[in-house]
Amino acid sequence: MNYISTRGAGIGERHTFSDILLGGLAKDGGLYLPNEYPKVSADELARWRTLPYADLAFEILRKFSDDIPDEDLRELTRRTYTAQVYCNVRDEENAAQITPLKTLGVEGGAPLSLLELSNGPTLAFKDMAMQLLGNLFEYTLAKHGQTLNILGATSGDTGSAAEYAMRGKKGIRVFMLSPHKKMSAFQTAQMYSLQDPNIFNIAVEGVFDDCQDIVKAVSNDHAFKAQQKIGTVNSINWARVVAQVVYYFKGYFAATKSNDERVSFTVPSGNFGNVCAGHIARMMGLPVEKLVVATNENDVLDEFFRTGIYRVRKSSETYHTSSPSMDISKASNFERFVFDLLGRDPARVLQLFRDVEEKGGFDLQASGDFARVQEFGFVSGRSSHDDRVDTIRDVFEQYDTMIDTHTADGVKVAREHLQAGIPMIVLETAQPIKFGETIREALEREPERPAAFSGIEDLPQRFVVLANDAERVKAFVAERTR
Ligand SMILES: *Cc1c(COP(=O)(O)O)cnc(C)c1O
Repeated sequence: MNYISTRGAGIGERHTFSDILLGGLAKDGGLYLPNEYPKVSADELARWRTLPYADLAFEILRKFSDDIPDEDLRELTRRTYTAQVYCNVRDEENAAQITPLKTLGVEGGAPLSLLELSNGPTLAFKDMAMQLLGNLFEYTLAKHGQTLNILGATSGDTGSAAEYAMRGKKGIRVFMLSPHKKMSAFQTAQMYSLQDPNIFNIAVEGVFDDCQDIVKAVSNDHAFKAQQKIGTVNSINWARVVAQVVYYFKGYFAATKSNDERVSFTVPSGNFGNVCAGHIARMMGLPVEKLVVATNENDVLDEFFRTGIYRVRKSSETYHTSSPSMDISKASNFERFVFDLLGRDPARVLQLFRDVEEKGGFDLQASGDFARVQEFGFVSGRSSHDDRVDTIRDVFEQYDTMIDTHTADGVKVAREHLQAGIPMIVLETAQPIKFGETIREALEREPERPAAFSGIEDLPQRFVVLANDAERVKAFVAERTR
């Protein structure tokens, strides 16, 4: 398996899975993708139907990472996907399934269900990939005698998933910037209560954008970055995307009885990482009817899938919503799909994403490329705060199930794309406890809290407060990496 950039770099060069694992963008600013998608045969699909999650993950990942010996990869996936790690399920007997499918009911002739992806340590779907990344990083670094210092900025979900994945890992330190006193008490406690010596919580006296600007400033200091071995774990990381392919297969098997059936997935989307994994599963041969992209008020992606116009927003035009993990102004993984949509033409991808930078977007309607979106099964919809509240209330009343705000966006949009006889699987991306305010608004009661999290706000917290100053952050990192 060789990896190429969506903008053309690396064609004719050799980039293995391990080569691109620790890096971010390709050197031409593009995103890495396999030079072709591995195909799943009918025999394989039949054999995979009954595999436990960890072994299914092994079978899928080995098709993308042929430079890791099978026995090592099998050990890594078995260590990652255990019932002990993904233990925060509401229904204990489902824990061993890692991503249990919860059937809601039949609507419009279509069985409607939730694929639970948020039973990991931080109660959001990002744990699914990040936990594997932690083990893969540790393995690869040890093999090459290297160390890595991860620098990131977070307003909640991503940072805590990264910290829980990297805690106690040899050769890795995490420096995570978060806005001082701007996160919810629950999210703050989740991150700051970690006592592991390789995790550094840095509360910046500023807002989330200030934290991001500091990460950018540090990353642009190439000498510092190289000397301190600074890396990131952002959503364009290829291993994160490919780890997510696994649960599309798992969900398909859970929702069907035979491999002749087709299913649709609805995916609450922000940076297009999650649904990009669904696209890859479909390209590998998973029988997927529709991939439904659900956005909130930040509807860059919904606009594209309705009109063929991709128009990124300014950060001042980005709404702060009650499904905050989908509040994006541009979708960082979208370029991977555009590459496939344009028949894998790197020169055109380069031009289009130059247009994004220079003109704020592009229009594929006129060129006729947009018509092909259908062939890839994509449709979309958008949801608002009122939709979210109504959906949370309705799902609770009808199905006695409490869902979080992002999953509610998914259910709302899924209902607009039901087809009789085709199971609709909505990806559940977080647990309601993380977004208590909207739950109280919708249901006039407290969100459910998994037992492991009771009293988390009272635990001792470990963090430093630093001024909103990149030089101060650099000095802090340098002192701790000596
Ligand atoms: C990150 C996140 C999303 C969006 O996922 P993308 O891969 O960025 O599209 C949706 N819901 C929750 C809860 C998230 O944390």
